[in-house]
Amino acid sequence: MRIGLAGISHETNTYCQGLTPKDAFYVIRGEKFSETAGQHSDVGGAVDACNALGVEPVGILFASTQPSATIEREAYEAFKEEILLGLAAEMPLEGCVLLLHGAGVVDGIEDLEADLCRGVREVVGDVPVAASFDLHGNVTQAMADELNAVFACHHYPHVDLHERAAEAVGIVHEMARTGRRSRCSVRSVPVLLPTTTTYEGVGETALARLLDLEKQSGIVDLSWFHGFPYTDVAHVGSFVAASYFPEDQAEAEGALDTFTRELWSTREQFRATSLSAEAALAEANSRAEETGGGPVVIHETSDNCGGGTPGDGTHLLRAMLEAGLGGEACFSFLVDPEVAAQAHEAGVGATLRVSLGGKTDDLHGEPLDLEVYVKALHDGRLIMQHMFKGAPLNLGPMARLVVDDMDIVVASRRSQTFDQEPFLSVGIDVMKYKYVALKSSNHFRAGFQQLAKAIVTADTPGLTTHHIEVFPRQKCNRRLWPLDDQATYPEEGASDG
Ligand SMILES: [Zn+2]
Repeated sequence: MRIGLAGISHETNTYCQGLTPKDAFYVIRGEKFSETAGQHSDVGGAVDACNALGVEPVGILFASTQPSATIEREAYEAFKEEILLGLAAEMPLEGCVLLLHGAGVVDGIEDLEADLCRGVREVVGDVPVAASFDLHGNVTQAMADELNAVFACHHYPHVDLHERAAEAVGIVHEMARTGRRSRCSVRSVPVLLPTTTTYEGVGETALARLLDLEKQSGIVDLSWFHGFPYTDVAHVGSFVAASYFPEDQAEAEGALDTFTRELWSTREQFRATSLSAEAALAEANSRAEETGGGPVVIHETSDNCGGGTPGDGTHLLRAMLEAGLGGEACFSFLVDPEVAAQAHEAGVGATLRVSLGGKTDDLHGEPLDLEVYVKALHDGRLIMQHMFKGAPLNLGPMARLVVDDMDIVVASRRSQTFDQEPFLSVGIDVMKYKYVALKSSNHFRAGFQQLAKAIVTADTPGLTTHHIEVFPRQKCNRRLWPLDDQATYPEEGASDG
């Protein structure tokens, strides 16, 4: 059996400046798909599942990049054309698995996934097509209508992307063998959820409930898409998708009703607290006192490259320097290729004056004028150890700088901090610090939840702030919680289903 693998995966933050061009994407083509085997990524999981089932994975094209601005039209059209022509050339295929995000926006196309899935369906005809997703997708029934099954990752941090892609391969394989076809229904709940981990609290409870409902209903899958609020599209919200065989429609509808109504009725529990940099440091200090030292992890959720921000924000770092935390604190990392290059040119042991961070826009803070000591350098080529375990991550030239005894790491390429590797690469053992600062919303938890004595969220001004009310919404005319007190679910004037 031969199954086509393809996808375009992008979390589009439409509030970012400019457009994301084609050359911003990394691509995997043809034989290169097999090199992802063993990686805990969606592509790696799909390849592994094919190998385990004795299926030939026919890799066409997978294109992805860091979350960023709206995708340039020509970039999307070129990737889409390559996928459609590639699939057409490989027909007959017994099935197809798409590796998607769900929150892709193209210049002139608000729903990347619906457009791409429609194109794929036209090419492959009635063969089974399933797709894996990031739970931050804003997904539509128009997209689901083209698919036989939908599998969003369940966890945030997304440690199960590979498992969900493997499930997509599994159901396509089953449907190709049996001739049966499942279908998908999507319900949209008018809430803008702040970034919510599933490792604890209300996110953990909601996920457990979803999995319980899925089990009780006996359907193929229930997927909860938290949704991506940092985007101005008509269909923004939070979503639940059910995949089911036609005879199980009543069970699927019942599970969708139950989960969406519970999500709506518990919405206040999702409301995020928001601490300024100074308040977060005060909170970190009291948590350190309570827990007998550290490390207390302070994550700057509002400058999360994983949501489209520049990663060079200086609000938290400035507060830490002003607080005089010295050798008790480390920060990894800020994205500043200019300073990384200066440090590499000066070499280990050099002292130099730099203008650090705050170079992309005014929102994320002013540059810091600092005299820094270059303690260590690294090429930035890392292997991820928790989320995307086994996959390479290239942060470009990195430097460990010391300012007033505080360790500050800079990298050259945009990314959030997923695990300890950006610290370890330049010789920093986070267990020796009272305060460990990083930029990420929740993915860092995969690598830090176990070791942190406490985790404190800093919500400084930034493009991924919890203050979602600051983003103008021109495309969306839904009444959305928490922006509008009049929001209801089921929505007035909308059919429930
Ligand atoms: Zn996500």
